[in-house]
Amino acid sequence: MSGLEVDGLSVVYQGSDPVTAVDAVSLSVERGEIVALLGPSGCGKSSLLGAVVGTVPPASGSVRWEGVDVTATPVHRRGFGMVFQDGQLFPHRTVGRNVGFGLEMARVSRDDRRARVDEMLELVGLSGYGARPVTDLSGGQRQRVALARSLAPQPRLIALDEPLSALDAELRGRLAEDVREILLASGTTALVVTHDPDEAGVMASRVLRMRDGQLV
Ligand code: ADP
Ligand code: MG
Repeated sequence: MSGLEVDGLSVVYQGSDPVTAVDAVSLSVERGEIVALLGPSGCGKSSLLGAVVGTVPPASGSVRWEGVDVTATPVHRRGFGMVFQDGQLFPHRTVGRNVGFGLEMARVSRDDRRARVDEMLELVGLSGYGARPVTDLSGGQRQRVALARSLAPQPRLIALDEPLSALDAELRGRLAEDVREILLASGTTALVVTHDPDEAGVMASRVLRMRDGQLV
């Protein structure tokens, strides 16, 4: 049975000239599968991802996880994680306290939190970085921390929106492989958005192409 099932999902931005950013998209992602959403800038990738995780209200359609409709479920109750292009780390928290943020919110005990943070830092190749300020990190390290922070609360699905786009070309290639390995090692179901065909091919087991709000 499918993990994520998206059925006829549309996103319309209202205004004097309404924009249909996502036009009745249907897709599914099996549990543990990594699927890429590939398409040019402006084709509606971020809007679709937002509607899946719950940050963007859909005009119509549904989002289900394991057959349960979560279309009206608030974003923080869906059990979905997100990683953005620029990481959006908390600048005043250390690496460890960034990674542990979701666990703090979930009131996980300090000991369990510490163990889980260490495990996550090892997973993303940053063992021993816990006490460092995030402001000292390179772009690639920041994205590793963002990934660790999203994975720490064990999300049912992780949505990554152009996670490597802010990095330089050489680093992007290497990190794309690492992201795939990290997602596979954690067993997390993933939907990853990119405009780069090479990156999509490296990170995902299946690539969906998007154009003008529709899958093609
Ligand atoms: P992508 O992520 O593929 O670049 P987006 O989902 O960001 O595409 O945008 C799809 C379309 O929706 C574009 O035409 C964009 O201008 C429009 N759009 C995105 N966000 C908004 C918004 N908040 N309000 C109005 N229009 C938007
Ligand atoms: Mg986008």
